[in-house]
Amino acid sequence: MQFNLSDEDLEFKQMARDLADKRIYPHAESFDEHEKTPAELIKECAELGYFGFTVPEEYGGLGQKTVTFMGVLEELCAASAGFGIMLSVHNSLCCEIIKEFGSEDLKTKYLPAMASGEKIGAYCVTEPNAGTDVASLTTSAVDKGDHWLLNGTKAFVTNAVYAGVFIVFAKTRPEEDRRGISCFVVDATSKGIMLGKPEKKCGIKASDTREVTFVDVKVPKDHLLGELQDGFRMAVSILNSGRIGVSFQAIGIAQAALNEALKYSKIRKQFNQPIANFQAIQFKLADMATRLDAARLLGYRAAQMKDDGKTSPREASMAKLFASQMANYVCDQAVQIHGGYGYIKEYAVERYFRDARVTELYEGTSEAQRMVISRDLLKD
Ligand SMILES: Cc1cc2nc3c(=O)[nH]c(=O)nc-3n(C[C@H](O)[C@H](O)[C@H](O)COP(=O)(O)OP(=O)(O)OC[C@H]3O[C@@H](n4cnc5c(N)ncnc54)[C@H](O)[C@@H]3O)c2cc1C
Repeated sequence: MQFNLSDEDLEFKQMARDLADKRIYPHAESFDEHEKTPAELIKECAELGYFGFTVPEEYGGLGQKTVTFMGVLEELCAASAGFGIMLSVHNSLCCEIIKEFGSEDLKTKYLPAMASGEKIGAYCVTEPNAGTDVASLTTSAVDKGDHWLLNGTKAFVTNAVYAGVFIVFAKTRPEEDRRGISCFVVDATSKGIMLGKPEKKCGIKASDTREVTFVDVKVPKDHLLGELQDGFRMAVSILNSGRIGVSFQAIGIAQAALNEALKYSKIRKQFNQPIANFQAIQFKLADMATRLDAARLLGYRAAQMKDDGKTSPREASMAKLFASQMANYVCDQAVQIHGGYGYIKEYAVERYFRDARVTELYEGTSEAQRMVISRDLLKD
């Protein structure tokens, strides 16, 4: 089942799989252990255009569709979900928001450098006291006439250590809630940006996550993205794109876990026969594969809607909610099929099990996705 992907989409997917098989999967355990993605891999993917997958060609990108990128992202995440999220945040959130809302000057200034991988993007919404409740963020941007003065701390910033550009959401009207938020493109070379220590995570350890503090950072006046006080709407709109990315991260992890479970069930013998002969194991495999395909269908539906210019929060959240829960279920079952060995680091399912967990947390928790879906269902 190819989910209506075109020959070109499948070619891109196959190329990504080849790269993942040769250059990522064999080292993924080491990325996890050392909590780092090697610079050579980032460079290699940049040369392939993976940092500007959906950036238009006129700005130096590959100008590809979301559907095509999602096929590639799945393959990369199946090999290393930690590396995959770096690309997802960079492309689906950071490049996308500049492409969507940036002035011509901002697009020309940043998109080519981002598409080439020279400037990696980091997306700064969450704060220590503002997670699901984005409207309560307190980072401030004060109008100083010829520049904005940015102050505040952002939490859990993916890609912070690699970042050439930070997309920062801040209050331009502190007395307001969501109506007081604006969004800025902040160059990482600006004075006053301080990075915290890397967070010690349960999974996706190859990705970088840390706090970023902005102290009296001067942001040029024309680095405002979109309209003043329109940041909340922009954050929500771009999160739809990010959520499709996380869906395919989850799908990639789950596919990898299912592959391992299938392999193991055929070679592991108990009671003088492969455990795959037992119906209890067969039914687990059947349920895993069925949920995986259902997640792919929801994921490709949301991606196709985005490509058709009909992005809808409901479908993006449904895809993310289902895929992330599916990945946790599939990885849990894959560990179960491996028995005690599934709990040992030597077996890849142990890593998939840890990596899957975060997909229900970031870019909106599962509860937040349900809020989006139910709000849309009830709006009429
Ligand atoms: C590895 C990692 C990387 C991340 N990368 C980024 C990044 O690059 N940029 C960024 O901005 N953020 C990032 N995040 C932050 C992430 O998006 C937040 O953690 C997430 O939105 C949840 O916020 P919180 O952790 O503050 O949880 P809270 O909002 O404090 O939620 C705690 C619990 O309460 C539930 N809850 C909250 N409100 C409600 C409600 N109204 N109804 C029902 N339940 C509710 C939540 O679902 C959750 O179960 C990252 C997080 C992680 C773990």
